[in-house]
Amino acid sequence: MALINEHFLKLPNNYLFSDIAKKVNSFKVIHPKKKVISLGIGDVTQPLPEAVRTAMYKAVDDLGKKETFHGYGPDQGYPFLIDAIIKHDYAARGIVIEPSEVFVSDGAKSDTGNIGDILRHDNSIGVTDPVYPVYIDSNAMVGRTGILDSGKWSNVVYIPCTAENNFIPDLPSRRVDILYLCYPNNPTGTTLTKNELKKWVNYALANDVIIMYDAAYEAYIQDPDIPHSIYEVKGAKKVAIEFRSFSKTAGFTGVRCGYTVVPKELNGFTLEGERVPLNRLWSRRQSTKFNGASYITQRGAEAIYSPEGKEQVKALTDYYMTNVQLIREGLAACGIEAYGGENAPYIWLKTPDGMSSWKFFEKLLYETHIVGTPGVGFGPSGEGYLRLTAFGDRDDTLEAVARLKRWLI
Ligand code: PLP
Repeated sequence: MALINEHFLKLPNNYLFSDIAKKVNSFKVIHPKKKVISLGIGDVTQPLPEAVRTAMYKAVDDLGKKETFHGYGPDQGYPFLIDAIIKHDYAARGIVIEPSEVFVSDGAKSDTGNIGDILRHDNSIGVTDPVYPVYIDSNAMVGRTGILDSGKWSNVVYIPCTAENNFIPDLPSRRVDILYLCYPNNPTGTTLTKNELKKWVNYALANDVIIMYDAAYEAYIQDPDIPHSIYEVKGAKKVAIEFRSFSKTAGFTGVRCGYTVVPKELNGFTLEGERVPLNRLWSRRQSTKFNGASYITQRGAEAIYSPEGKEQVKALTDYYMTNVQLIREGLAACGIEAYGGENAPYIWLKTPDGMSSWKFFEKLLYETHIVGTPGVGFGPSGEGYLRLTAFGDRDDTLEAVARLKRWLI
């Protein structure tokens, strides 16, 4: 008799986006002629940059010739991609990263979800609230989060980020061993300055905390004072793992590629107090359970760093940043309080008249046929907020803003 991992039974039945899809589908059944505009799920809509496609075509041709054929690739990723990552994402910002500290993967969701494999089940975790749900659910699956009671897990420290504290999290009120930070933030679209990030790194250094730093939206940073990497802060290599993704940077949500940096000087501890480098454990974990992103994918990712690739990626992120600005301005004209969207592709709006997130979601869907994401789906502090994304098509975004104005002004 095979026994199951009963921690799975503690997870709430539905993933947020399935709930939303169900509600949208029932709306469509009742109103088949209405055009629904989705500013809900964070998937991109614009095509892959030409430089990426050209590199991928060429990679397919490589695989078609005996002399340039590639089978299984190196465990951590091809040196051509790792070198490009180090040169453009780190060395260019004065950060020293060694090739053996970079692990190319199929994206940040897998890595942020799998990283817990190398840490004991009874560490306590801290998250900023609202939060990207993968951090919590992946920990819940191994029993690290305790018991779910009234929307909160007993072994998770929730650090509220709301308009009241300007979305700047306070240091946790009780001890955490692992802390998840995501900046630019999904869902709030807000950022931390280097000084604010320094506070977290120093806290982690002083308390032997490991920071899981998710920088999936780094490419959207416009303000020169906002750090792109946690390693811009001195000492961060001793305490932080950084996750990056090509999904939102270069339209790779369907291609699948990202990477994770696990510095050599970052240690965890055995129960006896012996220090163990996490780089060694993650390398062992990946080489056992992951067989690499494809050669074609990695060639495509490498092309992002070419001069044309950089230009095309900038055009792509500019496109979405124009969308986000249109949404921001539209909401301001409607008198809706909204946050984020300056260095991130997300807008976090406060629901009018203290309406609940789900109530506002339904009103928005039924009265304007726009789909957002109810803030409470990202955690208790998301109640009373709703997330809109900039990843829609321009015409749809303009139409959504016009509908909002007709509805609210
Ligand atoms: N991290 C955050 C904060 C995200 O919002 C997302 C995707 O929405 C991911 C990671 C997943 O990225 P990837 O497509 O690389 O798996």
